[in-house]
Amino acid sequence: MNIKIIPGLLSTIRQLRKHENWTRSQLEASQADGLKQLRAYAYAHSPFYQKFHQGLMDRPLNELPILTKAMLMEHFDELVTDRSIRLEKVREFSSGNANNRRYLDRYWVTATSGSSGHPGFFLFNEPEWITVIASFARGQEWSGARVNLLRRRRMATVASISPWHMSSQVAVTARTPSTPSIRIAASLPLEKIVQQLNAWQPNLLIGYASMSRILAEEQLSGRLHIAPAKVFTSSEVLTDETRRRVKAAWGDEPFNQYGATETADIAAEHKVCRRMHIFEDLLLVEVVDEQYRPVPRGEFGAKLLVTTLFSRTQPLIRYEINDSVRLSEESCSICDLPFTFIDGIQGRVEDALSMQAVKGGQILIQPLVFNRVMDILPVSGWQVIQETDSSLTVLMSGARNSIHDEAVSDAIRKELALEGAIIPLIKVQHVTEIPKNSSGKAPLIKSNIHQDRMIA
Ligand SMILES: [Zn+2]
Repeated sequence: MNIKIIPGLLSTIRQLRKHENWTRSQLEASQADGLKQLRAYAYAHSPFYQKFHQGLMDRPLNELPILTKAMLMEHFDELVTDRSIRLEKVREFSSGNANNRRYLDRYWVTATSGSSGHPGFFLFNEPEWITVIASFARGQEWSGARVNLLRRRRMATVASISPWHMSSQVAVTARTPSTPSIRIAASLPLEKIVQQLNAWQPNLLIGYASMSRILAEEQLSGRLHIAPAKVFTSSEVLTDETRRRVKAAWGDEPFNQYGATETADIAAEHKVCRRMHIFEDLLLVEVVDEQYRPVPRGEFGAKLLVTTLFSRTQPLIRYEINDSVRLSEESCSICDLPFTFIDGIQGRVEDALSMQAVKGGQILIQPLVFNRVMDILPVSGWQVIQETDSSLTVLMSGARNSIHDEAVSDAIRKELALEGAIIPLIKVQHVTEIPKNSSGKAPLIKSNIHQDRMIA
């Protein structure tokens, strides 16, 4: 670990702990103040925001324009608040070796992988980066794994090994002699992943939800023998069955985390209530529909607008993230946190399938529709692939009992009929492993019709 940042990190972690005792009105006062400071900073130092918010600088947040990733990348050099940052140079820098290097000797860099060829770059100065690391530490603490730099704990992360992935960068910074950590590429063959985990014997296991379920099956079938005290999942929808299988394998349900390369950890599950509370002291979250209209609590939105209160190098104000989440209608009555919780994640809007409707036109079928059928099957993995406008393939791996394929396709037909879709041809196929994409994720829903999607 970069020893220089340890005192700052410990004090930030302590600070964040204090915020958890705030009342809701204390939190709201701090948010208002944080937003005011962020905007003042952006208006003073970012030529982009000076134009983008022209005439709106005194207006409330919900009247400001939306910032998309495409806009952010197009206006990168004017948006950042340090005039010596150049996107071209950031690109050059990130094509080199990542290991603990900083751009201009002072900026940590993370990148989103873009399958359409447009990765997003995100820069953090030292105080910002400390906040990012502290936000991940909070996520771990909420599981009951108190961050203690002196206690030896072995960590294993099964994920993308792109060195510019947020979690890789965090791991490099957080690695200390007391928390040795390995990173295993989720895209490796399962046997290899199991072998490496058996050799490493992690106390903390971190992985995509689909991977955690597969590893739980490996443990239950006796090929994997590890005893992690905590399992963390992220980046994909965590289904009820995955929770149950992880619990069956290691004694407790996984702790789900929700984060983005652009921001930091956004929300994490708390051990007291097992609900995913948003880090509202660090960021503001708005749930909106396709047309960016606010969506009431208790309903799913199409997108999330995130304002990162601590961002200064690259201010993010109403930054669009394509996740469909639902906020709780009430505050949590089980734990004492002042933060709102997310009571449903449907995944990315891109995960929904556009199908032909009986009434004519197209309708969006949400992943939950397939989850209802697929998640309760005794399999270690599944994937629904939209092959064409009129055909679906259903893949299943690691079936524990015999499954009647016909019953599976019947159940899916029934669900789609309820949604009002024209029933496609459904093919059920058993495979040894669900194919993974380049970052090692095995999405539950996939479409071969639109290939040009971003993978965050
Ligand atoms: Zn709670």
